Amino acid sequence: MAHTWAWRYKCNKCRRDFLVVRTMTVWRWFNFQHATCNHCGSSDVKVKHEGRPSKHVLDTLGWIQYRRGAYVDAEKTLSRAADKAPNNATLRYHLGMTYYQLGRKEDAIASLKRSLQLDEKSTDAAEARRVLRELGAS
Ligand SMILES: [Zn+2]
Repeated sequence: MAHTWAWRYKCNKCRRDFLVVRTMTVWRWFNFQHATCNHCGSSDVKVKHEGRPSKHVLDTLGWIQYRRGAYVDAEKTLSRAADKAPNNATLRYHLGMTYYQLGRKEDAIASLKRSLQLDEKSTDAAEARRVLRELGAS
């Protein structure tokens, strides 16, 4: 599953901000500290963590936390993303799986059902249905 990943950097040389957007799979995570300035080409840049992350950034980070088993952190991150994008099927699936891992059965069922309602043909749909069956909610 591919994710759009975006991060805001600040160039230490020309002092301007720039955004790097990449599409990647979460398990091929790489060191996002390495980038070159879009304006002057300098590699003396730093990540602006304090920038308000987009729903894509939050979704990607939340799913990485999930895959590392940090379900409590994943739930916080994915909930923030879901506030920004309430009708995103992938996000609902990620949140549902996180609730499932946290043992929050009712929340898991609601999120996974919502995910299927939004996009029943998504690449996540089969897994969402399997978990719903396991939770006795199919
Ligand atoms: Zn620069």
